[in-house]
Amino acid sequence: MERSRSFMTEIDYYESLGVSRKASTEEIKKAYRQLALKYHPDKNPGDANAERLFKEVAEAFEVLSDPEKRAIFDRYGYQGLRSRGHSQPGFASTEDVFNHFSELFEGFFGASRRSGPRGGSDLRAEIHLTLEEIATGTTKTLEIRRQLLCEECGGRGTRGKSKASTCQTCKGHGQVESVQGFFSIRRTCPRCHGEGTFISDPCQRCRGEGRHPGRVEVAVEVPAGVSEGNQIRIHGEGDAGSRGGTSGDLYCLVRERKHELFTREGDDILCEVPISFSDAALGARVEVPTLRGKAEVNIPTGTHAGELLRLRGQGLPSLESKRMGSLLVRVIVETPKKLTPKMQELFEELRDLESGASLPGREGFFDRIKKYLKGSS
Ligand SMILES: [Zn+2]
Ligand SMILES: [Zn+2]
Repeated sequence: MERSRSFMTEIDYYESLGVSRKASTEEIKKAYRQLALKYHPDKNPGDANAERLFKEVAEAFEVLSDPEKRAIFDRYGYQGLRSRGHSQPGFASTEDVFNHFSELFEGFFGASRRSGPRGGSDLRAEIHLTLEEIATGTTKTLEIRRQLLCEECGGRGTRGKSKASTCQTCKGHGQVESVQGFFSIRRTCPRCHGEGTFISDPCQRCRGEGRHPGRVEVAVEVPAGVSEGNQIRIHGEGDAGSRGGTSGDLYCLVRERKHELFTREGDDILCEVPISFSDAALGARVEVPTLRGKAEVNIPTGTHAGELLRLRGQGLPSLESKRMGSLLVRVIVETPKKLTPKMQELFEELRDLESGASLPGREGFFDRIKKYLKGSS
């Protein structure tokens, strides 16, 4: 769709805009406005040709409305403009043309700018929680730096009892209108920036903004069962709006602190508990830590190393259902590192007593090895 720009092609910007070579700046502007309106993508959705022409007239206007560029173009033409150090005229994208166009004729299509109070921004904070806090739910106090509503003027931005007066430039409309040819052009009022009102006696504390930066403490209620990456939204605790605009929200990102004893697996928590060799063989009741204190867990006779024992209801509450997860106890069997002479004696006695029936896994393993060696010989 781009017009070929070989040296054989000379674009005539006057032709593009349909004006004479002697056209005044005003005539050029008027012609551009008419053509831009005609080819505006809003009016020609999906029409590539209209889009091309929309760009072309914008380019023509860009050159012919600039006295220096126009003089070069008049004398040397399109190629002359390029070879004289002027960057390639024209716009990279339709978006650029749009921006350019909007700046020139703001409000042209009746899309009036929002005026009046402006809302405050949303803010983000992190909230660091231990598993104990997650288990019960908690309230955390965060110190937040943010825009605060000005206490001096109550956010109005005016000093004392004075009031914002209607802007005289735009009569309170926030936009100024000028009639040119067939069109009435509306622009944001330069005096009040679209607010429609003007503060001639601004509050000294906030300089008329109705808010000022500061620090504040926010209490954040954290429900039980939250997890890493959850966000808690606190309505209205973001930046205050300016001149009566609504405040933004505060988003608190949940971060889980690492626990010395427990790791989290969903609503369950996992804890490794070392037990003795004999407890594993004989069975025992051992005390284990929980998030809420301690509990007793029953180690059955003949427990293997690495076995998981489940203590129901000792995990975390589910955020959705409030159903409680479990505490999973992973059994670590500790082999004694040092033996007293008496222990040595007993272990040796024990070894002599061990048979296939008491160690089925070991027996099976040797059977498999025997078969394996036979098969490979
Ligand atoms: Zn103030
Ligand atoms: Zn105004």
